[in-house]
Amino acid sequence: MTTRKGKGKASGLKQTDIGVFFGLKPLKDKGKEQEAGNILPGVSLHQGPVLEERKGGKGDHGGHQTVGVHRLQVREGGRKRWNRGRINGEQRESKRCPFYKKIPGTKFAVDAFQYGLVEGITTYFLTHFHSDHYGGLKKSSTFHIYCNRITGNLVKSKLRVAEQFVHILPMNTQVTVDGFKVTLLDANHCPGAAMLLLFLPDGQTVLHTGDFRADPSMEAYHELLSCRVQTLYLDTTYCSPEYTFPTQQEVINLAANTAFRCVTLNPRTLVVCGSYSVGKEKVFLALAEVLGSKVCLSRDKFNTMCCLESERIRQLITTDWKAAQVHVLPMMQLNFKNLQTHLSRFSRQYDQLVAFKPTGWTFSQRVEAVEDIKPTVHGNISIYGIPYSEHSSYLELRRFVQWLRPLKIIPTVNVGSWASRKAMERCFSEWLTEAYEANNVKGI
Ligand SMILES: [Zn+2]
Repeated sequence: MTTRKGKGKASGLKQTDIGVFFGLKPLKDKGKEQEAGNILPGVSLHQGPVLEERKGGKGDHGGHQTVGVHRLQVREGGRKRWNRGRINGEQRESKRCPFYKKIPGTKFAVDAFQYGLVEGITTYFLTHFHSDHYGGLKKSSTFHIYCNRITGNLVKSKLRVAEQFVHILPMNTQVTVDGFKVTLLDANHCPGAAMLLLFLPDGQTVLHTGDFRADPSMEAYHELLSCRVQTLYLDTTYCSPEYTFPTQQEVINLAANTAFRCVTLNPRTLVVCGSYSVGKEKVFLALAEVLGSKVCLSRDKFNTMCCLESERIRQLITTDWKAAQVHVLPMMQLNFKNLQTHLSRFSRQYDQLVAFKPTGWTFSQRVEAVEDIKPTVHGNISIYGIPYSEHSSYLELRRFVQWLRPLKIIPTVNVGSWASRKAMERCFSEWLTEAYEANNVKGI
């Protein structure tokens, strides 16, 4: 497909030079400056179809267990609907695939399985195994899916997609897919989560973060150091200054220290950790390690963990509830009533329960420091909501963008409202201007 105005089905897409609103020169003028070696990045605003993003509650992928909870609705706005015929077993586009899920100039789509077969797309990347990204995939799917080994294991094991459609790519190794050079990089999100680094024939380099938690260690990725990323598709889940939260390690330390203290004071303490399908394993693994215990999981969750190809995980997990002092339960079961029932099932071993709910950022649990985290207590049950995020905080996002200094940023989350898109564009513009000014001062 093309993203140029007036051509094909993307005729509704328009690129506006938002830099003009911030006193910068129009992009076409800037192009001349860039040729002259005086590069000041503007931020381009794509105005795609009007999207409404509905989330199943605020938090860090609160809806991961349900396909379609994190759903994009596209208003047709008088545009032609695609026929709902079936081609090669897939539904033709029933909802329009948003522009930011397609990579212009290629036949690639990223995390776009809920639109049926998309015209002009032959290669469907899956960045990680969270339902708001794989939603639409099912046993009968015939998309050609490109992902890494862990995500591929999960797609085959959990969704039963036929092996022939799952194409496994190595991590940190440049490969050629459909004529384009592609490298997968660790996204520091859930197990198997990858960022895509794409080299287009016209010299453009594209980084798609999928979902990620930016980390300074990424600044040492030699794949990123050895290229210049022009276009960044960015996970903007928490792209606003109020989104501050502790590092994962701080939160893990808090949970481990708390569990250790509780069990030391009362060895008959059962420790419970909430979990979604994939992700946040580091929390319950740390609890198990500090207590010298195994972690018990449901059979289904156990099978999921076996897809992750981690020896550390394999050695710690069990399905024998009585053999572990750390129990992993679905996040939605972590309330006083359910936990009381759960504790009573093990009353011979335990008379107290401490539970950890690793959620993302929540308005009601805003914390600057882990010392501020307090449990809610009901009788012999304590529940700690802990701000363990697998997405970047605002400051982490800013640092990553200012380090990478892309020429164009395309947000992939919270793009549902004009106000939200505008606010993000303002952030990007400020960040990049600051970054370039800082580098000019340094003479870089
Ligand atoms: Zn995710």
